[in-house]
Amino acid sequence: MVVGDFAIELDTVVIGAGPGGYVAAIRAAQMGQKVAIVEKEYIGGVCLNVGCIPSKALISASHRYQDALNSTLFGVTTENVTLDFAKTQEWKQNEVVAKLTNGVEMLLKKNKVEIIRGEAYFNDANTMRVMTETSAQTYTFNNAIVATGSRPIEIKGFKFGERVLDSTGALNLQEVPESMVIVGGGYIGSELAGVYANLGTKVTILEGLPSILNGFDKDMVKLVEKNFKNQGVEIITDAMAKEAVVNENGVTVKYEAKGKEESLDVDYVLVTVGRRPNTDELGLESAGVKMTERGLVEVDEQGRTSVPNIYAIGDIVPGPALAHKASYEAKIAAEAISGEKVAVDYRAMPAVAFTNPEIASVGLTESEAKEQGLKVKATKFPLGANGRALSLNATDGFVRLVTTKEDNVIVGAQVAGINASDIIAELGLAVESGMNAEDIALTIHGHPSLGESVMDAAEAALGMPIHM
Ligand code: FAD
Repeated sequence: MVVGDFAIELDTVVIGAGPGGYVAAIRAAQMGQKVAIVEKEYIGGVCLNVGCIPSKALISASHRYQDALNSTLFGVTTENVTLDFAKTQEWKQNEVVAKLTNGVEMLLKKNKVEIIRGEAYFNDANTMRVMTETSAQTYTFNNAIVATGSRPIEIKGFKFGERVLDSTGALNLQEVPESMVIVGGGYIGSELAGVYANLGTKVTILEGLPSILNGFDKDMVKLVEKNFKNQGVEIITDAMAKEAVVNENGVTVKYEAKGKEESLDVDYVLVTVGRRPNTDELGLESAGVKMTERGLVEVDEQGRTSVPNIYAIGDIVPGPALAHKASYEAKIAAEAISGEKVAVDYRAMPAVAFTNPEIASVGLTESEAKEQGLKVKATKFPLGANGRALSLNATDGFVRLVTTKEDNVIVGAQVAGINASDIIAELGLAVESGMNAEDIALTIHGHPSLGESVMDAAEAALGMPIHM
């Protein structure tokens, strides 16, 4: 191993190049800082390489396959539809993931961010080491933004391997399994259940809680469950996964449900029960950074840790583990280091599951608003009354606005249905800007569009719906 015998001085250093780290590095550079970013594995982090982006690529490919099989309703008949899954994977990797991650690398270079390859480890609050397999170099820094992300949790009895997959393994399968058990029906498990069910796999979800997609409103989850049922996906709730026994041709998954021991023989088991922050092998303690019992880094509203020149963002700080949260916190931290008076405000943080149909939520749900003592009402506009949804043959779903009774201020919204992930953006803007239902109702929406259902929901909230 080559060891650099002198320390290289850095101004601002970002550790981890995921949607938290690379955004922080670019924003800090834009604000005039001299920035270096350290990455041990892949530019783009989990999100671009083995998370958000590849999962959405597989979701869209699986929809294409379903459309090819099932379009007789529109007078389109297809014969001999085949699936070359290795080709699907090649497309996902080369045309989607590689293009995006190369693009991010170019953006970093264009913004004059120095890229340092290797694993960072703090010696103290102003010094770190970066190690590769063959070298180690010491750096000093003025400010650091830590954005090291998270990794899948491995549970007892389910050691990750060829048949017991984490999300990365499930995203990179080269064959479509005949059968698969998914332990954990959160959004990652439910999205991947959708992918493989669309591709023809017999999927069973084992969920420890009474319902999948915990955290989303029940009426949205019901739509997803209905679709899963139509596709033959079995959902076993209140189930405790016990052990995976790998055999020659697959794996036996043992679990307990309704007080009985059961088992399923399948090709693969995917375990998506949550993620653990990457804070355990970073030397944060040596730097004096305080952490919670779960290993999350404690930060203030600017992302500053207990050590004033060290910031933390993304999956390693409290809150939902979502890419857009990481990027949002990244900009706040980078601007705070540059002396701007900024602070995080999570009021309008969307949550989206790319299930079938998509479900999305922003701001408060009706029950959350009531818990906070707000006097609100919820108004639901069904996609069945939207012309564009009808023309897309996708009328399952709705737009719901949660508005104050007194002055119709939009404090939250939920969308279920096709493209809910995009429709929620307008409602995020409404929550963020404190708009009321009149502001939306008076906004002219293009016709025919799914977005019109937001306007229709606003009119309904005002008691003057045209299309309901
Ligand atoms: P990460 O993206 O995890 O990046 C951290 C980076 O730090 C990594 O590249 C890692 O190699 C590097 N690193 C770690 N330790 C060190 C070290 N010591 N030295 C140097 N480098 C280090 N979120 C959404 O918002 N929408 C989605 O649709 C979505 N889908 C997902 C699907 C899947 C299958 C998964 C697994 C996740 C998904 N997520 C989604 C979550 C999202 O990927 C994360 O919230 C996001 O990546 C967190 O960003 P981050 O910058 O905090 O960390």
